[in-house]
Amino acid sequence: MVKAAVIVEPEKLEIKSFDVPRVAEDALLVKVKACGVCGTDVHVFHGHLKAAPFPLIPGHELSGVIEELGPRASESIVVRGGELRGGDAVTVVPGLPCGRCYYCLNMPELPNLCTNRLVYGVTRSCRAAPHLYGGYAEYIYIEPGSWVYKLPEGMPFEVGALAEPTAVSTRALGRALGSGSAAGLTVAVQGGGAIGLLAAAAAKVAGAERVILIDRVEQRLRMAERMGADELVDMREFKTAEGRVKRVLELTGEVGADITIECTGVPAAVPEGLEMTKRAGKYVEVGHFTDPGGVEIRPHVICFKDMDVLGSWVYPMAQFGEALDVLSSGRFPFAELFTHKFKITDALKAIEASEKGECIKALIVP
Ligand SMILES: [Zn+2]
Ligand SMILES: [Zn+2]
Repeated sequence: MVKAAVIVEPEKLEIKSFDVPRVAEDALLVKVKACGVCGTDVHVFHGHLKAAPFPLIPGHELSGVIEELGPRASESIVVRGGELRGGDAVTVVPGLPCGRCYYCLNMPELPNLCTNRLVYGVTRSCRAAPHLYGGYAEYIYIEPGSWVYKLPEGMPFEVGALAEPTAVSTRALGRALGSGSAAGLTVAVQGGGAIGLLAAAAAKVAGAERVILIDRVEQRLRMAERMGADELVDMREFKTAEGRVKRVLELTGEVGADITIECTGVPAAVPEGLEMTKRAGKYVEVGHFTDPGGVEIRPHVICFKDMDVLGSWVYPMAQFGEALDVLSSGRFPFAELFTHKFKITDALKAIEASEKGECIKALIVP
């Protein structure tokens, strides 16, 4: 039997057992070794995501080993990083495009814009066999059309489980950089949660000269130092938006950051972030994955600064390659982002700890 945490209805999580599935010839069974707990999982738990069908097994940030490989799986599943064999360490790209919507048909280069994305651990119910479509389980069943990345040699499973959030962060940075380099640039990161911290690390790996990270939580600020931030703006010290903007200007010769990445999900951060970005700079909005409402902005700032304001919505599948490059750079102690670890049977505690903000990131270890 396979143990899994199942959200049976909003705010009701139960530990259930499923039969070990028979693996179709074009599918894969992955033995989950590590699964990160994401803010999205908290929203799914509360029933905030309309696309989440209950009952479902949450978890979309996973790594594991190939337990069983259907004989034709290598043809039906996109495998990156070499030929796939049983026992290989992998991570799975959770989101897949439908191939039929307006965006899939007209803008296939941006599969992240698909309006019917199928996402393991988010939009796939466990009601019907083979049931195992989420990462808070001992096994996950991977279907044809999925993308699987082999983990670089020697990468710990915990670090492999960070490929998904790192893909979010590298995509946000990539929106600003385009095909250009970060060399010599100052990047300001608003918010030191997992996405902000990984954005800081990704900016340093991409060659940024200086990363300024803004947060108010001691644990996050200390972690930001470990993840490459050169300067911290502590919101307990710089209590007002004006004070923080002034501080960033001070740190940049009164010019502002070349790139500012919004990773707080707090609307009030946006006008502040626009102000701390230099003229002709770029502002990237990645923090508002859900919609907490609006805020007043001054459009004149955008016009006067001749600046770019860019949105970043998840990532194309191939973003995992860049994410794994960042994680395998060896530059930063990525596994330390998992400040809390839980068994599957304690999945509810993991979700609660994430919601309370006790941890930088929680990990489920089967
Ligand atoms: Zn996530
Ligand atoms: Zn689509």
